[in-house]
Amino acid sequence: MKLHEYQAKGVFADAGLPVPESTLAETTDEVVAAANDIGYPVAVKAQVQVGGRGKAGGIKLVDNDEEAREAADAILGMDLKGLHVDKVLVESAVDFVNELYVGVTMDRTVGKPVAMVSTQGGVNIEEVAEETPEAIERVHIDPAFGIQPYQAREAVFEAGVDKDVAMDVANVLTTLYNLWDEKDATEIEVNPVMITADDEVVCADAVMNIDEDALFRHPDLAEMEDEAAGDELEAKANDYGFDYVRLSGNVGIIGNGAGLVMTTLDLVDYYGGSPANFLDIGGGAKAERVANALDMVFSDENVDSVVFNIFGGITRGDEVAKGINEALESFDEIPKKVVVRLAGTNAEEGMEILNTDLVTVESTLDSAVQRAVEYAEEEQ
Ligand code: GDP
Ligand code: MN
Repeated sequence: MKLHEYQAKGVFADAGLPVPESTLAETTDEVVAAANDIGYPVAVKAQVQVGGRGKAGGIKLVDNDEEAREAADAILGMDLKGLHVDKVLVESAVDFVNELYVGVTMDRTVGKPVAMVSTQGGVNIEEVAEETPEAIERVHIDPAFGIQPYQAREAVFEAGVDKDVAMDVANVLTTLYNLWDEKDATEIEVNPVMITADDEVVCADAVMNIDEDALFRHPDLAEMEDEAAGDELEAKANDYGFDYVRLSGNVGIIGNGAGLVMTTLDLVDYYGGSPANFLDIGGGAKAERVANALDMVFSDENVDSVVFNIFGGITRGDEVAKGINEALESFDEIPKKVVVRLAGTNAEEGMEILNTDLVTVESTLDSAVQRAVEYAEEEQ
C-alpha cells in the first residue's frame, strides 16, 4: 500500500521528523485559507502517487492569494500522469540551499535492508542510480540489531553531506530506518531532504509504502487504505478483493492466476496492442466475481475491448462459462466487445455453453488475444 505524501508526512511528524507545517485542501478556497493560516510563501502540491510531480506541473510555489488561487485552479482537477488530482497539500515553503536524498528499502540481492544517502537529491534518483551509482551511499543493516549510530554516521559522511548538518541528517536516517522496521514498510524515501541557509534539515517530500500483508498489525495505517488507493478503479478493486493494476493501454485483461494474466499482457503487447490493466480474479469464477471483474474493466474509459483468459482447474470450464453468461446477461448493454478463451478442465463444455451473442469465443490464447487487439483497433 502506497501512502500519499500527506499521510506519510503525518506518520513522519508523529515520529518526530522535521516536516514543514501543512494542511490538506480540496477546493481553491480551502487552499487560500490554508495558505493564509500557514503564511506565504507556500508550496501547493498535488496529492497523487507518482514521482516527478514538480516537473509535470503538479507543484507550484506561491507568494500571495492571487497566485494561490491560480495554482489551486490549475492543479485541482488536473490529470497528472493519468491520475486525477482531487487533493493538494498546502505547505510552508522551504528556502533551501541543498537537496539530499535519504531512503530505506530491502536489498533483495543481499537479503538485508539498506539505508541510502545521496547529496544528489531533488532530481530523479533512479537516474542518479543508473548514471552515477557511486553518488548514492548504501549501508546494509542487520535487522536483528537495527541501525547503529556509527552506521548512520558512516552513510551520511561517506555520501559527503556537509558536516554542519551531518548529525541531523544521520538522525533523520535513523528515524526513517526505525519507522521502516516498526511499520512494516517496504520502502521509505525522502527526496528531497532540504537543507536551509541556517542549517535546518527539513523532510520536504515523503514516500512510504507498507507491506499489505502486514497491515493487520497496523490498524492506524490500515485506516488510511481507502484514501491511499488514490485511483478510483484501484479502490474498487480493493473492495472486490482483486489484484489489479491500472495500465495505460486500451485492451482490458481478465484472467485467473497472476502468471496467466502476465502472459496475456505480454501477448497483447506482442500482437501490437496495449494492455489497459492487470486483473487477476483469483481462484473460482462464480458469476458475481466475473460480473465484478467486467464492471472493473468497463468502468475504465480507456478500455476498447476485453480479453478473458481463464484456466479451469478446481473451478471447471462449464461453471466459468455459466458465470460469464450470467454476468453479461446482467448488463443492459455490453459496452465493449469481449473475447473469451477457456482452457483446462471442461473447457470444451464451457465453450459450448458460452452465449456467442454476447461474447466472441476463441479456442487458443493467441487467437483470442489477436481478436481482442483487432476489436480495440476498430474502436480507435
Ligand atoms: P516530486 O517532484 O513529486 O518528487 O515532488 P517533491 O516534493 O520532491 O518536489 C519537487 C521539487 O519541487 C523539489 O525538489 C523542489 O525543488 C521543489 N519544491 C517542493 N517544495 C518546495 C518548497 O517548499 N520550497 C521550494 N523552494 N521548492 C520546493
Ligand atoms: Mn520528491
